[in-house]
Amino acid sequence: MAEDCLFCKIARGEIPVDKLYEDDDLVAFRDIAPQAPQHFLVIPKKHLAGPNAIAVEDEPLIGRIMAAGARLARENGVESFRFVVNEGEEAGQTVFHFHLHVLGGRAMDWPPG
Ligand code: 5GP
Ligand code: ZN
Repeated sequence: MAEDCLFCKIARGEIPVDKLYEDDDLVAFRDIAPQAPQHFLVIPKKHLAGPNAIAVEDEPLIGRIMAAGARLARENGVESFRFVVNEGEEAGQTVFHFHLHVLGGRAMDWPPG
């Protein structure tokens, strides 16, 4: 846990969110600035700065995040969706705690901008 990390604070329940799911390892909540009709984030409770911080021991956790994202999309009526994970500022990362974006409910462009 990182003391000043926004998403660690959300994982600790210190900042209110519109929560979709929580267990011992993960939290899923709606994005505060949705970029699609459905836009939520799935995060590990463990602080990982981003994809580059994933160690071998974290690989099952990342798999659980992906599976939870797909399950929650289905449970919220979203059959077609996009997963996004940004690494680094140039890619658009603004919160340096790993998060899977799940976006759906509208047509998506390819390639992404
Ligand atoms: P990034 O740009 O790092 O890939 O994504 C960070 C995401 O976190 C953004 O989509 C942003 O809207 C979302 N976000 C930032 N602060 C908060 C917050 O306090 N609550 C919620 N629910 N989402 C947040
Ligand atoms: Zn964190």
